Amino acid sequence: MRFDIITVLPDLLQSPFAHSILQRAQKKGIAEIHVHNLREYATNKQKSVDDYPFGGGSGMVMAIPPFAACIEKLKAEREYDEVIFMSPDGKTFNQEIANELSGLNNVIILCGHYKGIDQRIRDIYVTREISIGDYVLSGGELPAAVLVDAVIRLIPGVLNDETSALSDSFQGDLLDAPIYTRPADWQGHKVPEILLSGHEAKINEWRHEQALKRTQERRPDLLK
Ligand code: SAH
Repeated sequence: MRFDIITVLPDLLQSPFAHSILQRAQKKGIAEIHVHNLREYATNKQKSVDDYPFGGGSGMVMAIPPFAACIEKLKAEREYDEVIFMSPDGKTFNQEIANELSGLNNVIILCGHYKGIDQRIRDIYVTREISIGDYVLSGGELPAAVLVDAVIRLIPGVLNDETSALSDSFQGDLLDAPIYTRPADWQGHKVPEILLSGHEAKINEWRHEQALKRTQERRPDLLK
């Protein structure tokens, strides 16, 4: 799967993809992440990518030409399944959308800044608008990193133990069960006995009960 992320702050997106699972996915050739500096597509002398809003008001608006140039260049190179705009007024991101996106081949992600982007970019190019929650960040880079991380770890072959993604919270209707590792006794705080029993069926049953209990307590909405 290939992601092309268009941003004015490419440096912000270096570290999030350079470690751990995401780094491994790229090394294995399962995922490609290309970050494009929007400023390189600005045609005016000042290399500016934003302008004053028509009709007045506060905040700068990201202009069409640099986005159009970058998107057109990418689209001439390959077919894209989706052009996603990260936006607080988009559909709220969740595990179901992450699962769906993990089946795609090529995806462009646009990161907004300042007041946002010219509506016509959304009308002409964007096929999907996604928010990472009901709060406003200063740019679309962290939301893009959140989306790409959640999606890439779902692509088969990325996680070493694939079943571990299946038992994650939100993958079904349940949150994940509590987890423990050594030592079995930490200053009198003991691991639940059942986990030391070696009885796989009973352990699975216990985990299911715990997951159900946790979901009832914290997210009863998931059980509807
Ligand atoms: N004026 C806009 C917010 C602009 S914030 C509004 O009220 O909707 C600047 C940019 O940050 C946005 O264009 C978007 O790309 C990104 N952004 C901010 N919050 C976000 C969120 N919750 N989810 C996804 N992207 C977000």
